[in-house]
Amino acid sequence: MPDTPPPVPDAPSPAPPPVVGFVGLGNMGAPMARRLIEAGYQVRGFDVSEAALARFAATAATPGALGAPRTPGAPGAPGAAVAVTSAAEAAAGAGVVILMLPDSDAVEAVAGDPGFTAALAPGTTVIDMSSSEPERTRGLARSLGEHGVAFVDAPVSGGVKGAVAGKLAVMAGGADADVRRVENMLACFGTVYRAGPVGAGHAVKALNNLMSATHLLVSSEAIVAGQRFGVDPEAMLAIVNASSGRSGSTENKWPNYILPETYGSGFSLRLMLKDMRIAVGLAGQVGMPSRLGEQALALWAEAERALPATADHTEIARWARAAPASPKEAPAVEKLTPRQEEIKAEFIDSRKTWGEDWEAILRLDPDFLHAYLGFSAIPWRQNHLPDKVKELICIAVDANATHMYLPGVRQHVSAALDAGATAAEVMEVLELSATLGIHAMNIGVPILTEVLREEGLRTEPAPLSARQEEIKAAFTENRGYWHEFWDEMLELDPELFAAYTEFSSVPWRTGTLEPKVKELVYIAFDTAATHLYTKGLKAHIRNAIGYGATAGEILEVMEIASVLGMHAVNAAAPILAGQLEGEPEEDQPEGGQRG
Ligand code: NAD
Repeated sequence: MPDTPPPVPDAPSPAPPPVVGFVGLGNMGAPMARRLIEAGYQVRGFDVSEAALARFAATAATPGALGAPRTPGAPGAPGAAVAVTSAAEAAAGAGVVILMLPDSDAVEAVAGDPGFTAALAPGTTVIDMSSSEPERTRGLARSLGEHGVAFVDAPVSGGVKGAVAGKLAVMAGGADADVRRVENMLACFGTVYRAGPVGAGHAVKALNNLMSATHLLVSSEAIVAGQRFGVDPEAMLAIVNASSGRSGSTENKWPNYILPETYGSGFSLRLMLKDMRIAVGLAGQVGMPSRLGEQALALWAEAERALPATADHTEIARWARAAPASPKEAPAVEKLTPRQEEIKAEFIDSRKTWGEDWEAILRLDPDFLHAYLGFSAIPWRQNHLPDKVKELICIAVDANATHMYLPGVRQHVSAALDAGATAAEVMEVLELSATLGIHAMNIGVPILTEVLREEGLRTEPAPLSARQEEIKAAFTENRGYWHEFWDEMLELDPELFAAYTEFSSVPWRTGTLEPKVKELVYIAFDTAATHLYTKGLKAHIRNAIGYGATAGEILEVMEIASVLGMHAVNAAAPILAGQLEGEPEEDQPEGGQRG
């Protein structure tokens, strides 16, 4: 009898591929998701854009096209793409969920959605690879932590090319153990660098892009200047790239996207500007002056207004090139008269600032500017309030929601910091100013009760319940006063009033400005011509006096608010000047630079 061959053991079935949820399949997300699939992961992808999702689904339909897994250390089974129809579906069953979205708003819209959080199993790790705002990242990490979900921020640099080739720099922020757990997977995208605790990756990313954007703009100005002098830009790039002026802009962006005039890097100008704003905001928060960064940001913002909404960030070079070629080609600027020179010198001496808006006003009507200087200088001559407080009041006037004059906000935040204000004090002024919206209720509720009475639907106020008395006591304790205009609001909607008490009490509980200054801030925005909330104004004048404010100090706040009308001229005079000079429309300034 022939020997029976030994039974062939069943081949071991391959381990199912680990599941990764991937939300945001745009310019970066699509090639990154593809890297994961190629490395053997099962990727459950979602994007709100039907086109992006369809492209990803096409990947799902042709799994063979992705080839065999090839990243060392990656799971052995071939990967797969599964297109799903919501972020919650992408998260279901995933051990890791990656977000690659435009900004913090989009990240919070996804990760703050209760359906999404409910779909995350405890122990899941969420990785935000978008370039988000570090403080908001920390808040998100805390709230996901409450659901037992770990969080890592891991933004990237290296562009679409780097995403396709797996050559990104990945900047990981998070607890050591959390980063370690996902490090192998992140290595599919490129080289992983540890930035520090949660939020550190996002901080480094924004600061990196501020540097990168500043290099790109200055190198664009320099290369175009060289070109106009007669130097071939390619020759200039070859020299600079062997010299100390080189950067990613001269080594990559100029030769690949700007010289060939394709402007197709895949990173939009809008997103670059977002990162610059995050970085400049972060510098302000930690009290580090970022003067060059602010200038670069202002110029990029100008470019954004001039270029189409979909412009690639490399188009900043196209925008820079459109500037007049040389002083000779620039429109002839008439010399200032001796009288104009004198007013300009006096203005700079007194206000420590100058800009194209003041220059335009000076040229159009020097006597008007001189009269404005006299009018606006009064608080700085009489000096009832210290300079720091005056600057904080200017912020309250310019930043309040009914006025929102951002060039002035920028100038006065910087001046307040120079005058010794801390970031926390500036923030406190903004928090106090944020209460302005409640005036919708202060005005609306009495009108509502009046109509209810007229319609026979209300007779007299209902007595306060124990809960309402408690809320009233909390407000009085936290805010230091009670006014009858709160009565009906408390009676009709105690839950809203309790929440408002909490909201408006934050600066009173944690802020360091003395109560008198807090009340002066309320006076500033109540008295501003764009708001004029007289009921609140009277209450806060009374409160300020109760805290020891003098009539001179309160008048000074009103005097500061009185110059707000000038913003009409700050905004419009440069436009008039531009049109008189015959500038093409896209080169004309959007409005004033200073407040
Ligand atoms: P993108 O606009 O091409 O892609 C973002 C995707 O997110 C879009 O497809 C959009 O439809 C999707 N999206 C938006 N809101 C959503 C939501 N609520 N749910 C699901 N999907 C949503 O942007 P991108 O260039 O891929 O950049 C993504 C992030 O990476 C940004 O934060 C950007 O700053 C950063 N980044 C980009 C580059 C680059 O070169 N493009 C380089 C490094 C970092």
